[in-house]
Amino acid sequence: MKILEYPNEILRKKSKEVKDPTSTEIKQLILDMIKTLRSNNGLGLAAPQVGKNLKICIIEIENELFVLINPEIKSLAGEKILSEEGCLSFPNKFLNIERYKRVKVRATDLNGKKQIIRARGLLARAIQHEVDHLDGVLIVDRCTDEESK
Ligand code: ZN
Repeated sequence: MKILEYPNEILRKKSKEVKDPTSTEIKQLILDMIKTLRSNNGLGLAAPQVGKNLKICIIEIENELFVLINPEIKSLAGEKILSEEGCLSFPNKFLNIERYKRVKVRATDLNGKKQIIRARGLLARAIQHEVDHLDGVLIVDRCTDEESK
């Protein structure tokens, strides 16, 4: 799939709830997203980045794949950590962004099962980044360093 790049307006739209997470259509979309993420050596990908305004994002860190359908952040905790972050929709751009150290998120998985994921560190950062995409929020909105925008 082609990855949309900033400032494509689809990236700015709020994504819609997935009504039937186990439908063939959604499963196929997720498989295509996984292929796209891997072929671009990314860490995470949200459906709007491939032109679908649906609440789906995937993250793969150290060969562990997370599929989050209709994710809802339940809590953000710990100190905020400043670190360089990239995004497949902003090729070759890295911005310093503050994210919470820990996150608790509720989401539906590939099998239609609701789960709670508690994450910290890089996974917590990736979840916050990808869930932002579903709200139309991008790294340029989170960056406090004016000069790098
Ligand atoms: Zn991104």
